[in-house]
Amino acid sequence: MAPESTYFRKGFGLKTEVQDTLTADYDGQLVDLLRARDHQLVAGPVTIRLAKEFGFCYGVERAVEYAYQTRAKFPERRIYLAGEIIHNPHVNAKLKEMGIVFLAPSDKGFDYTGVQPEDVVILPAFGVTIHDFQTLRAIGCVMVDTTCGSVLNVWKRVEVYAKDGFTSLIHGKYYHEETRATASQVEKFPNGTYLVVRDMAQAEDVIAYIEGRFGGGRDAFLARYAHAASPHFDPDVHLKRIGVANQTTMLARESLAIGEVVGQAMARTHGESHRAEHFRTFDTICSATQDRQDAVNALLLEPIDVMLVVGGYNSSNTISLAALCAEKVRTFHLEDAAGLDPAAGTVRHRDLATGEEVVTAGWMPMEGPVRVGLTAGASTPNNKIGETVARVLATRGVDLASVA
Ligand code: SF4
Repeated sequence: MAPESTYFRKGFGLKTEVQDTLTADYDGQLVDLLRARDHQLVAGPVTIRLAKEFGFCYGVERAVEYAYQTRAKFPERRIYLAGEIIHNPHVNAKLKEMGIVFLAPSDKGFDYTGVQPEDVVILPAFGVTIHDFQTLRAIGCVMVDTTCGSVLNVWKRVEVYAKDGFTSLIHGKYYHEETRATASQVEKFPNGTYLVVRDMAQAEDVIAYIEGRFGGGRDAFLARYAHAASPHFDPDVHLKRIGVANQTTMLARESLAIGEVVGQAMARTHGESHRAEHFRTFDTICSATQDRQDAVNALLLEPIDVMLVVGGYNSSNTISLAALCAEKVRTFHLEDAAGLDPAAGTVRHRDLATGEEVVTAGWMPMEGPVRVGLTAGASTPNNKIGETVARVLATRGVDLASVA
């Protein structure tokens, strides 16, 4: 660990000092109104139903607050941020306005070449890799670590797998900051190994390999997955003892299913006693992600005409929420309220299949009553959700003053 005086992970006791600024930057009166009305707003022909759990999670609130506290604590110092504090463009823009400099990612981690010992570096809610952490420790700068406790739980799990000689099979996105940081934890042990699978289709490849029916064998498997695995990963060696974990923001249902089917494949191939000894699985979806997915599932039991999911395009938990909604109802994942153009009746959104930004006309029925479902990812501030509500109403010509 870095010396006590340069490493901080519990804030600086300046919560009161930054609270007003945080409230002004992120709170939303319209969201407060929706909450007060049992998450429902009826205005003219429009009914808006807001999921019971949505928006900022405990980890994001804490990380953002610590970043504000850091600015207050070190008004004269140069402050850097290792990547984005969270995946929301508005929050990141606010931090830039405060003079916090975002470090650019490179193949080997973030570029710390300009960081001096007297500087301050904030580590984001996703955490950073062991390599990055050690680089910063060697520089000797002040580190403000906002890594979420739920991410630390995944690290502990992966560490135990590596210590016990299990390959960590991580359900996640290999390029996502959190998964990169999680996977790097295996490096604490000489033979620590990981493999990241993005979804059930990729888990099926792992199962096929375990069962000896992966087309093309070892070379083909490595050609497809070497980029998402430890440098020394060898499927012939490292798929014999497996521990499953996941990025905290994946689809919970899919993570559980992956753990289940990989375990079954181990049992089918090597027998039940082998599975008992050589396979482990642990659900590391965080409770905030789980709560938001449960809330949206509950909302989707109601009649909803169209669903809006608000959050950064690169926000993993927002993408998971949008995927859940799209199974049941027409769904649009928009980055913020600016994606809605009331005059044109269009929505600018992330296409769920391609990931590209597209504009769709006629997203909302313009005749008769309409029920719009609404939720937001864990990194979306309430004011951005409120602005979306206002634009939904404006699209049907409802005056905001009539609902206040
Ligand atoms: S989504 Fe979960 S893991 Fe990520 S910051 Fe929020 S609470 Fe923490």
